[in-house]
This record gives sequence, structure tokens and C-alpha cells, in this order.
Amino acid sequence: MSYINKVLDNLKVKFADQPEFLQAVQEVLLSLTPVIEANEEQYRKAALLERLTEPDRQILFRVPWVDDKGQVHVNTGYRVQFNNAIGPYKGGLRFHPSVNLSIIKFLGFEQIFKNSLTGLPIGGGKGGSDFDPKGRSDNEIMNFCHSFINELHKYIGPDRDVPAGDIGVGGREVGYMFGQYKKLNGNYGGVFTGKGLTFGGSLVRTEATGYGLLYFTQAMLKANGHDMSGKVVAVSGSGNVAIYAAQKAMQLGAKVVTMSDSIGWIYDAEGIDLAAVKEIKEVKRGRLSDYTNYRPNAEYHTEGRVWSVKCDIALPCATQNELHLEDAKALAANGCIAVAEGANMPTTMDATAYLQKQGILFAPGKASNAGGVATSALEMSQNSERLSWSFEEVDAKLKDIMENIFAKLDDAARRYGMEGNYVAGANIAGFEKVAQATLSQGI
Ligand code: NDP
Repeated sequence: MSYINKVLDNLKVKFADQPEFLQAVQEVLLSLTPVIEANEEQYRKAALLERLTEPDRQILFRVPWVDDKGQVHVNTGYRVQFNNAIGPYKGGLRFHPSVNLSIIKFLGFEQIFKNSLTGLPIGGGKGGSDFDPKGRSDNEIMNFCHSFINELHKYIGPDRDVPAGDIGVGGREVGYMFGQYKKLNGNYGGVFTGKGLTFGGSLVRTEATGYGLLYFTQAMLKANGHDMSGKVVAVSGSGNVAIYAAQKAMQLGAKVVTMSDSIGWIYDAEGIDLAAVKEIKEVKRGRLSDYTNYRPNAEYHTEGRVWSVKCDIALPCATQNELHLEDAKALAANGCIAVAEGANMPTTMDATAYLQKQGILFAPGKASNAGGVATSALEMSQNSERLSWSFEEVDAKLKDIMENIFAKLDDAARRYGMEGNYVAGANIAGFEKVAQATLSQGI
């Protein structure tokens, strides 16, 4: 039996109850086949794949907190410190009722290779809680964040593990967590990224994942004889990544016609009014169903998904497994030329395979959404230097990093005779550095 199959078979038995984690590992390992086969004896003997698929440590903890009526609630907190071969653990925290160990492990595993691709010295980790922030007051959010950090603070630090935001965790939550960490530890370390601009945050961090996605997409389009300008774009999600992806797409001359949230989606044939979406989601923390109050000609749907709309480029920016095989077929039938993932693993494996088979350019999230974590690493550099760089300086560095990532994975795919297969290219380029570092550091 091949080394990859042996490892996958063992994981399937051991973690049968972790489907998202198994999906992420399978997608990475299968696309690494040529690299593993070329070094099979060495990797098998060193148990390299077993070591890369077993987290360094997994921390699970109780998070008790009190709501505004005096009722006590208990949630579960998670931090999976997956791999620090090339730098301190780095990865966001997700607050969403769907959070479980499988989801945090899949995100942490992906993060290892994503962080490696940025070219910056950061390892992979991820965390969060099954806490649902929706409908909670500021005071309740603060109570929860403080309780979460009361436990997590023991395990994180600027050279150890540096969390950031993800779904349900934005500037407000990072502020509360940083404040509590500082109180408990008595030092002002750069232990979080995505901090507010008045206390060590970096300009462009808010926009970074969405902007980075578009810098990557533009590089991929250009390498294949296309350009963003004049394209019709379907975006899913209406959170941090989706909003700034839509903004940069518009700045590059594209027309964004859809956005979504967990209840429904909007189609605005004249182009999305981003100021309205920002007011609804960022200020009022409301629902996209309100959008038609701002734009009466737009459509609001609760059935189906945004991918049924005719578009040139699709940017899934909401959550995992939100673009299925039937969506991929609809996109192909409507003449879509490129799909670039803003979210983590939004496209199912069969949908990815279908899109690639149809010759549709496909950018995997671990490469195309790496702009967020890359800018987080730039925030860490600024904190260490006690300096703040200008918006233009950070933005230029972000663009450079995203173009370099595209060049790296394009090159890796070509080296292994898989030109244009950016999934394989991203996994190979991310893996090579981590594998080398792991082997060099011994058992
Ligand atoms: P936000 O919480 O800001 O926004 C998430 C968006 O996705 C919201 O519109 C939300 O709808 C929607 N959504 C969440 N869960 C579901 C679901 N189960 N079904 C349908 N829609 C859903 O998160 P981010 O924008 O930060 O993150 C989005 C994706 O990008 C995630 O996969 C995340 O891991 C990934 N990512 C984020 C980075 C960052 O820097 N923030 C960096 C790299 C990747 P609603 O408003 O109704 O909740």
C-alpha cells in the first residue's frame, strides 16, 4: 500500500468522527502524491506524514460566562497548536455554534501550509468556541471574551502562539481578549493580531484577506490572459472577507452582483451598493434582507445559492463546503472563467475536481486567502519594531506577498508537470518548506 494511503486509512479509522479534518487532510495529501512518491522511503521512515497530521497539542477548556439577566452559560473553548516548525503558532479564533474539534483541526491543518506559503516565519494553529455571538449585547460579548482568555492566556504569547480573528471574531472581540490578556500577564506583548489601530493594530489588516484575495485573483487572471476589469463577480458571505473582496474587485473595475449571509442572498444586477451592506452588517449587525430597503430593484432570496447567477468570476467568502457539485455545474454552464476561495475550504472536493476538469481557473483558499495572516505577520513585525507603517506601505507589501504566492505555486505545479493545477501547486509549495524544517529539527 502506498505511504499516503496507509496514513489516510489510519486517520479515517482514528478520526471517523472528524469529517472536515479528514477532508482537508485528504485534499492535501492526495495532491502531494508526486512529491511523496519521489521521497517515499525517507518520509515513511521519518513518519513525516503522521507527524504533520497529528497536532503538537490540543487544548480544550470550559468557558463559563454570565448573560445580562444573570444566567450562567457554559461553552467549550478550543485551541489546536498544530505545527510550529517554521515559527510560532498563528491562526484565528472562530466563535460560531457549529465549532467543534473537527472544524478547528481542519482549519489548523490548512493554516500550516497557508502560513508557509506567505514566506513569513509563522506556524499553524487555530481555535475558537461554540459560543454564538448573534444577538448578544456588548457586555455579554465582553464577559465571554474575558472568560475565554482567563484560560487561554496560559498557552499563548508573542513567540509562542498568536491568535487573530475569524468567523464571529472581529476587532471588538480581539480588543476585549487583548485587554484581558494584558491584565492577566501584566505585559503589552503583541499576542493578538487584528488589534485596534490605537493599540498596536496594523493598517490594512481589516481589509487584508479580501484585498489579498483580489491581488491573487488578478495575478492568476493575468497569467492566463484575462483581467478583472469589466468582469461580473459573484461573492458569497457579507462578513469581513466578503466585504473587502467586493470592495477591491470594484476598485479593479469589476461589477459585484451578489452577496449572502447565513439566512439568504441578494442579487443586484446594477452592482452591489457596498455602503449599504457595510451599514447593515458592520454598523447595525443586521440581516441582508434589509438590503432591498436601500435598493428596491435588487432581489433577496432565501432559497438556493448565489452560484446560480451568471458571472465571470466566483468568490466564495462565507464558510466551508458552501459551493457544491451542482453549483460548480451551474457556474460552468454560465461561462464562469475563475473561482477563487476567500473562505477556508468553501468548495467541496467533487466541485473542485469538476471545475478544474472544465478548465476553470481555481484558486485554493490556503493560497488566495493568505493575505489576512500575512498582514497579521506584518502586524507582529511592526509590534516588535515598535513602529507603525503607513497604509500604502502595508498594502504594497500585501500585494507583493500575494503575487509571490501565485508565482510560487505556479512554479511548483509546473515543476511536477501539473501546469495550471493551483491546488497541487499550493499544497506542494507549502509542504516543501514545512517538511524540510521538520526533518531538520529531528524527532
Ligand atoms: P465573518 O464572521 O466576518 O463573516 C462570515 C460570513 O459568512 C457572514 O456573512 C456569515 O453570515 C456567513 N456565514 C457564516 N457561517 C455560515 C454558514 N454556516 N452558512 C452560510 N453563511 C455563513 O467571517 P470572515 O469574513 O472573517 O470569514 C469568512 C471565511 O473566511 C471563513 O471561512 C474564514 O475561516 C475565512 N478566512 C477569514 C480570514 C480573516 O482574516 N477574517 C482569513 C482567512 C480566511 P451571518 O452574517 O448570517 O453570520
